[in-house]
This record gives sequence, C-alpha cells and structure tokens, in this order.
Amino acid sequence: MKMGSEQGIERIQPKGEVYKCPVCNYTDGFHVSFNMEAGSNLAEIVLICPSCHRRFNIGWKVQLEQE
Ligand SMILES: [Zn+2]
Repeated sequence: MKMGSEQGIERIQPKGEVYKCPVCNYTDGFHVSFNMEAGSNLAEIVLICPSCHRRFNIGWKVQLEQE
C-alpha cells in the first residue's frame, strides 16, 4: 500500500480500531463517502473527518449490486 495523497484523499494504514483522525486527533469517528470506480460496480469507501474535513482512504472497497 502506498502512502501520501491522491486527489486530496490521504491513504492511512489502519491499526486497531479506526476512530481517531490522524490529522486533528478528533476521536468520535468518521463520516463515510463512496468513490465509484469508473466502469465498474466497485466503490472505494472514503472516510471524512467531521472536524477538520480531511479525507482518508484505508483500502476499503465494496461491491454494489448489479442493476
Ligand atoms: Zn480531523
């Protein structure tokens, strides 16, 4: 897994329970958004800090139902 930013989304390495923002140390968890992969039904889950609004990717992908 690579570190660093990608389109404003920072890749983080999850350790233990992921509830704390690595940027501002907010400790009540994250909002969630989905980044759809073009041409597929795969979505990458993006975590958004409710406090500092930074976005994080932890390598978490979900497959949506085919229509
Ligand atoms: Zn934060």
